[in-house]
Amino acid sequence: MNLNEMMKFVESEYIVINNTPCELCGGSYLTESAGLSFENGKAENITHCVCENCGNEREFFFRAPFINPMEWEKNTDELN
Ligand SMILES: [Zn+2]
Repeated sequence: MNLNEMMKFVESEYIVINNTPCELCGGSYLTESAGLSFENGKAENITHCVCENCGNEREFFFRAPFINPMEWEKNTDELN
């Protein structure tokens, strides 16, 4: 994964969050924290958001769609 791909991934997350209204009041979610983690060769990002209007908390889960599992396996083999 290069930096451009990472930027696209983060960008698409904010588009999803910006287009998701609060389920309680219809307000906008603000990103409080985001953490990217790698598990079993898959990138996953858990973004914690809070409604700017009523304070309702919500977590968004994102999977990086651009990572090819075959590429990861190949890289692992090269390391061994
Ligand atoms: Zn709200």
